[in-house]
Amino acid sequence: MHLDLSFFCNMDIINNIENIRKEIPQGVTLIAVSKTKPEEDIMQAYSCGQRVFGENKAQELKQKHADLPEDIQWHFIGHLQENKIKYIINFVTLIHSVDSLKLLKEINKRAATCQRTVDCLFEMDISHEESKFGLSEKEVYSILQSEEYKQLNNIRICGVMGVGSITDDPNQTRKEFKELKNIFNNLKQTFFQDKDYFKEISMGMTGDYPIAIEEGATLIRIGSKIFGARDYSKNNTEQA
Ligand SMILES: *Cc1c(COP(=O)(O)O)cnc(C)c1O
Repeated sequence: MHLDLSFFCNMDIINNIENIRKEIPQGVTLIAVSKTKPEEDIMQAYSCGQRVFGENKAQELKQKHADLPEDIQWHFIGHLQENKIKYIINFVTLIHSVDSLKLLKEINKRAATCQRTVDCLFEMDISHEESKFGLSEKEVYSILQSEEYKQLNNIRICGVMGVGSITDDPNQTRKEFKELKNIFNNLKQTFFQDKDYFKEISMGMTGDYPIAIEEGATLIRIGSKIFGARDYSKNNTEQA
């Protein structure tokens, strides 16, 4: 018997994903950012083949991982507190938001206890806005040159991530994404030339992903354009 599930579906989510897919070239992975959204919405996206999802709260992610299909790849894209690493360490596919050596060491320690090597990106400060997280290029160099970093056998640095400024000026956005790509190139040359896994540039959200793609993004993180606006009035809070 064939069940027509579309009756139950929010077809918008599927249409939105299909429209975005038409715009993204090969080599760019779409991360569906499902933070604050219910599991039914994630299953809608899943039903049209989406397997990569992004979340920014460790406990919310732990719950969704427990409830939803095994073959989903979960990316952590939010600010990660050290005491929350334990909720996600045994399944997370990629942590986009490493912004200190201290956090990296803690991720490494937790990853070792579950015998994993966990892929990470350095979050770079490209917007230079007070409210945002991220490292300077200088800080990343000093991490990568440190003796402590060399001892970390249970993490793997796969590239960089950045969040663009909130601005209506596409030139500003483009400038920031060019800066991120530049940092990626420098790090690749200096530290990761022979490391095939160092290949990711995570940039671009609903408002700026077309520019990010033009400037060399390999991972784009799209929430509202897929799932609609988020409602933080219920019980969710978000750091800007
Ligand atoms: C929420 C969030 C996104 C998605 O934002 P949209 O504008 O809804 O596409 C992407 N990246 C990060 C780091 C986020 O926190």
